[in-house]
Amino acid sequence: MSTFWCELAWLDGPTPDPGVLIEVAGERIERVATDVSAPPPDASRLDGLVIPGLANAHSHAFQRALRGRTHGSEGSFWTWREQMYALAGALDPDSMLALARAAFAEMALAGVTLVGEFHYVHHGPGGAPYSAPNAMGESVIGAASEAGVRLTLVDACYLDGGLEPSPVQERFFDADAEAWAARVDQLGTGPLHRIGAAIHSIRAVQPESAAVVAAWAQRRSLPLHSHVSEQPAENEACREVYGATPTAMLHYEGALSDRFTAVHGTHLSQADIALLGGARAYCCLCPTTERDLADGIGPARRLRDAGCSLTLGSDSNAVIEPFEEARAVELDERLASGVRGRHGAAELLRAATASGYACLGWSEGGAIREGALADLVAVRIDGVRLAGTPVEDLLGALVFAGAAADVSDVIVGGRFVVRDGEHASLDVPRELAEAIAAVAP
Ligand SMILES: [Zn+2]
Repeated sequence: MSTFWCELAWLDGPTPDPGVLIEVAGERIERVATDVSAPPPDASRLDGLVIPGLANAHSHAFQRALRGRTHGSEGSFWTWREQMYALAGALDPDSMLALARAAFAEMALAGVTLVGEFHYVHHGPGGAPYSAPNAMGESVIGAASEAGVRLTLVDACYLDGGLEPSPVQERFFDADAEAWAARVDQLGTGPLHRIGAAIHSIRAVQPESAAVVAAWAQRRSLPLHSHVSEQPAENEACREVYGATPTAMLHYEGALSDRFTAVHGTHLSQADIALLGGARAYCCLCPTTERDLADGIGPARRLRDAGCSLTLGSDSNAVIEPFEEARAVELDERLASGVRGRHGAAELLRAATASGYACLGWSEGGAIREGALADLVAVRIDGVRLAGTPVEDLLGALVFAGAAADVSDVIVGGRFVVRDGEHASLDVPRELAEAIAAVAP
């Protein structure tokens, strides 16, 4: 049994509660008490504001090595993709492990306690399988474990080069959907990691194969994710070939459900939104990447109104700033609509916590309540960004002005992963520098 005493904690109400005692048995919260004015002698004291651990619901960890390299360059999503493919072509299981470990550790420092890694670099150069067919996925699993964060390895079926194919894509391909399933069936789960499925996108997986992946995930009650309508060109190509949008195709193939997450959803039609909402699906917005790639602004409010839950992802890891992803949902929509106040701070924080946990298959996490996973984040409120904020305004200040640099302590399953702003076991800047240098062009 371990005990944490929080100066202030957000228990899902409109404002934080003072003096919250959290008792943890194993990796679960056993009891939550409020108005405990001073920490008991055996408790770990958490100053500032404590919130549930943050879920980064969509990441490609290796793309952390592209940071800075692609900024300021001309072009589009499609020219960025060429640079990403060059990096993907250079990876091996060792460099994947080092890069993912460094990226996940950077996420831990930012308050991320669960990451959904959308994994598609499966095989060796030219598509030759490694002797251990999941060598790359095992590297990602090892990376998360060493970084101290929970992981859902969202293994993406990727069968087809689609628009503008590249030879690097051979590394992503399984022979067919059945071969993908047979490989993913060999991945086990662990205390800190689970498995999810993905249809990379309708441009990379033919509809009949998408149906195989959807059925595989459904039989196992696992999360199913897919990149959906990030780019107008992807919608046009899908309409040309199938006469329907990517969302409609996923619907026809049985992919939509309350375990489905549409990643991006930037260019959805109103009919697509109705399909996703009717299924009670999730939509994972990745605003900092969507900005970086000039994708556009997703219909966040209309998705919520239709019945979807929003979640958030750092995607390309151009920046790792979970509060920025959260506030961007509201602020970008303000720019597009001329209207303020479509998403409140508590709703955005739920997208970053409980909804993110649920869409990654950890519905018992992302909240501070009895029975939940003891994943906690303490945020300094005496730093330059949040000092002077009255308690009743703290949630708003955190979401609309907070930064990764304000995170002081991170607890996963009742154990400190970050303490006083330092990672418990890794020198994160050095890890990043070495891992990125190893894959530099
Ligand atoms: Zn992605």
